[in-house]
Amino acid sequence: MEKVNVGSDVPVVGHWIAGALRMGTGERTGDVYNPATGDVTKKVAFAAASDVNDAVAAAEAAFATWRTSTLAQRVRILFAFRQLCIDRQDELAAIITSEHGKTLDDAAGEIARGLEVVEFACGIPHLLKGGFSEGVSSNVDVYSLRQPLGPVAIISPFNFPAMVPCWFFPVAIAAGNTVVLKPSERDPSAANWFAERWAEAGLPAGVFNVLHGDKTAVTGLIEHPAIKAVSFVGSTPVAHSVYELGTKAGKRVQALGGAKNHMIVLADADLNQAANAAVSAGFGSAGERCMAISVVVVVDDVADALVAKIVETMATLRVGDGRRSCDMGPLVTKEHLARVAGYVERGVSEGADLVVDGRGIAVDGASGGFWLGPTLFDRVTPEMTIYTDEIFGPVLSIIRVPSFDAAMNLVNANAHGNGAAIFTGDGYAARRFQSEIEVGMVGINVPIPVPVSYYSFGGWKNSLFGDTHAHGTEGVHFFTRGKVVTSRWPESSHQGLDFAFPQNA
Ligand code: NAD
Repeated sequence: MEKVNVGSDVPVVGHWIAGALRMGTGERTGDVYNPATGDVTKKVAFAAASDVNDAVAAAEAAFATWRTSTLAQRVRILFAFRQLCIDRQDELAAIITSEHGKTLDDAAGEIARGLEVVEFACGIPHLLKGGFSEGVSSNVDVYSLRQPLGPVAIISPFNFPAMVPCWFFPVAIAAGNTVVLKPSERDPSAANWFAERWAEAGLPAGVFNVLHGDKTAVTGLIEHPAIKAVSFVGSTPVAHSVYELGTKAGKRVQALGGAKNHMIVLADADLNQAANAAVSAGFGSAGERCMAISVVVVVDDVADALVAKIVETMATLRVGDGRRSCDMGPLVTKEHLARVAGYVERGVSEGADLVVDGRGIAVDGASGGFWLGPTLFDRVTPEMTIYTDEIFGPVLSIIRVPSFDAAMNLVNANAHGNGAAIFTGDGYAARRFQSEIEVGMVGINVPIPVPVSYYSFGGWKNSLFGDTHAHGTEGVHFFTRGKVVTSRWPESSHQGLDFAFPQNA
């Protein structure tokens, strides 16, 4: 998976191109940290333009034969890949924890959610079935096909190094495409681990490639003429620029961006359940989840009671090295820690009520780790930057509102529209919420409503550029294009000329 380069005292994570590990021609590398210790444990190769060309050439060459592989062959490889991932998932979880910092349990959870998409893709023979209409006209039948696009690029963020790539590559490969995955440079090793499992499962070389790096790799892939589609997940500004660049280059693009997920709590909610949900969805994975709850919008009547319960629950959380028994690990890098801690300072200066301060807390981990404990602000207002910006850390805001209508208006006015949840015992309010809330994924007494693999994942507004969500039937649609065949097999081929527009009779 990685090699020690001469002159470097830590292993270097290389690219995986045409079934083999390659260091590439790029001169630049990035540091990969263990966030729980603060140590640089690896370096990762950054692709140069020629590495982009090599990876795409490998994907292009492999497409010529992979697109003609039978559905039975593809499915057998997918099943084998799934089994290998299950058999060795502890190894992958340890890799994720060592580079991302999330707890081992959390890493196992993201692997399981990723493998759900592999399981979904195992049903590709059914998912690719077209329609057939016999006898639309005399001796004429019409049927539809869905065919692969060619080499596709998948660009993923740091926060789910296994699950997010799995939203795309199983479906893309099952549908007959070939892939170049560009994972986050902050936790690159999971992608190479997947490449090795694909090879063991019998996937032909070049069908799944991994290219490491930064903006050079991303723009190189998007602009490469052989790349037919781009699936991107990351922050909103980058998602937007990827969408613009990709569509300008004539590519099919789905670019999933950032989030600000609200959880509305009404007066008739079970407050214990709501407090537990807010704490686990706000601070799980140190708040570095695109579906994390970052704002609790509570109606005035129960605000004091809910905040008291949240504070009580937060006091039980253990922060530490994800390899040990704890609820929450460190943040991913020192820079990200500084950014999130900066928001805590800004919240205080903007006048929010800092009820729990996670700065300087005691942790079960090394002093050099990137630590910030669970932090709670009450009486946040919509103008404050801790509300308007995506913080992407363990900082939960409480906004108090006078009514359900005020809560709905607040959520719908937000620029992001990834997920939103409501906690209530009132079925009418819940129904109104699901109908009128302007987000892509809705939870009713469920704080993190990540859809199962046979539904599609994606937000609205600034949380997704493009119109196709990930996995489920939308994913199959994204990675294929339609063709409709009209065929006539007349009794005799001696028909005269007919210049009229075809009509059915
Ligand atoms: P990021 O935008 O910094 O990076 C995402 C990917 O883009 C990485 O592979 C990175 O190398 C690349 N990249 C970074 N800057 C680039 C640039 N200027 N040009 C081209 N490529 C660039 O995001 P991140 O910090 O890795 O991940 C966290 C963000 O991802 C959060 O905003 C989170 O909400 C979002 N996210 C969204 C979803 C979703 O489903 N909507 C899921 C997971 C994460």
